Amino acid sequence: MEDLRDLYQTVILDHNKKPRNFGVLEDADCRADGNNPLCGDKLTVYLKLDHDIVTDIRFDGMGCAISTASASLMTESVRGKKREEIDAIFARFHDLVTKAPGEVTDGSDLGKLGVFSGVREYPVRVKCATLSWHTLQAALDESGEITTTE
Ligand code: ZN
Repeated sequence: MEDLRDLYQTVILDHNKKPRNFGVLEDADCRADGNNPLCGDKLTVYLKLDHDIVTDIRFDGMGCAISTASASLMTESVRGKKREEIDAIFARFHDLVTKAPGEVTDGSDLGKLGVFSGVREYPVRVKCATLSWHTLQAALDESGEITTTE
């Protein structure tokens, strides 16, 4: 279990140091801003869509290690996916970071996103881990409004 924890830590630190898909997507079809005032995390998610399929995605902004790593891994897991597939992944991810161990799987069905299973032990970090997902949904809804976790 300790080894697994170390591995998870390593993945999160790696994605925080070298976030994937980081930067502005100039010709984005839609975008949304997200804000987690509790921690000070702020990010913007940019999307290119082909009907309801995310063909390209980027994010930028500033936040803590959890929010940055979560956004990085989120962009990797939703590219090429349809809206309904994305909603399903987010629902499982949300369960992973909010429900008690035993109530949900260990996250192995979520691939790399499973590294956030430890977040449920730190309730204030849940908003950091889910900010990019809420912002992604706002971009998909093309609401254009600022998403806040409050
Ligand atoms: Zn944070």
